[in-house]
Amino acid sequence: MKLPKYSMGVGDRFAHQGVAQLDAMIMARDKGVSIAPVWNKSYREHSIVGTKPDSVRAEADAAVKARKWKDPYFVDADHIRLKTLDGFLESSDFFTLDVADDIGADPGDDAMARFMAKHKKLIGRLNIPGIDRPLEISDTLMAGAARKFLAAVGEAGRIWQRIEAVNGADAVVIEVSMDETDKPQTPAELLVILAAVADQAIPAQTIAPRFTGEFLKGVDYIGPVQQFCKEFDEDLAVIAYAVRQFGLPDNLKLSVHSGSDKFSIYRPMHKSLKKFDAGVHLKTAGTTWLEELIGLAAAGGDGLVIAKEIYAQALSRIDELCAPYASVVKIDRSALPSPKTVDAWDATTFASALRHDQSCKMYNSNLRQLLHVGYKLAAEMGARYTAALEKHEPVVAANVTENIYKRHIRPLFLGE
Ligand SMILES: [Zn+2]
Repeated sequence: MKLPKYSMGVGDRFAHQGVAQLDAMIMARDKGVSIAPVWNKSYREHSIVGTKPDSVRAEADAAVKARKWKDPYFVDADHIRLKTLDGFLESSDFFTLDVADDIGADPGDDAMARFMAKHKKLIGRLNIPGIDRPLEISDTLMAGAARKFLAAVGEAGRIWQRIEAVNGADAVVIEVSMDETDKPQTPAELLVILAAVADQAIPAQTIAPRFTGEFLKGVDYIGPVQQFCKEFDEDLAVIAYAVRQFGLPDNLKLSVHSGSDKFSIYRPMHKSLKKFDAGVHLKTAGTTWLEELIGLAAAGGDGLVIAKEIYAQALSRIDELCAPYASVVKIDRSALPSPKTVDAWDATTFASALRHDQSCKMYNSNLRQLLHVGYKLAAEMGARYTAALEKHEPVVAANVTENIYKRHIRPLFLGE
């Protein structure tokens, strides 16, 4: 099973927007760019919402059927670990092996010695096409990177073996993810990681490193855009090199776990992808849930009441909601409006405060982050929430499709 050059992870917490999400891919196809949709939902999201992995498969299949989509699509067991894998085996054909927690675990002296001996030709000044200066890999750098990442890649190997044993090697797409960690991985470290991935015979088609800068939930990229671009370029060059050197799958590409909406780096990324003729997987998730909330607010009436209720509750349960996302939300609590203030808002004001339009004076990135992690509250509303989604389906769906197409696909995949 081969992942196409361009693919996009679309998360959907409440399994109501599959068609609206697919419509954005259809709009891209009409512009001549094929993007394979990948419906992703992590163990964490399933636990918080109270759903099971087969619901994502059902949603994806139904959306594809409704729109007669004939191109590839996938269902991603997102951020799974060995202990959370089994529930996803039947319904998924894309697996994101999350081994970030094993970064820094001791690989043991034997594994270290074997790796260093096998890959000693990487040490020195490495000329990699696409990188201006040779990549300097000293003995110390290589040993340090191996010490840091070998155990994590070993764990990815164990997860892969379990998937292979149950699903077979040809029926799945494999991603290795190390993004949910504090420190970014340099291009040289990525090379070492890829050597280890090849040693473990993991047929990775995408790899998600932790990039420089902050990838907070729901808001734009924060950090040195220039440096990000330089590293992104170098990562693309390293991947092309590693594919040839280590015999990794020839469609191996970067996966960018965006945490939603990293608008300021999309156009530079597009340029890099063109330069290297490289593919990319862009993973988004919560951006669709926020569009549901925007749609409900914009619909007014009971929709707006629900949106306000969720905000008021989110404010009173802020610590609980942020806890599972501690490393990826940074909320300035003093910038959050009081429930009383929000209660007085009309539909347009609420939608404008939440919608990710940085040119709008009403836009509040702190409120947006809080609501991004607040989907548990909608899950608790149960049928009342999903009934509202169904009642206001046209306005909600329009927001979902427009957001994915206009704010994500156009800048990143179309370069517009
Ligand atoms: Zn991630």
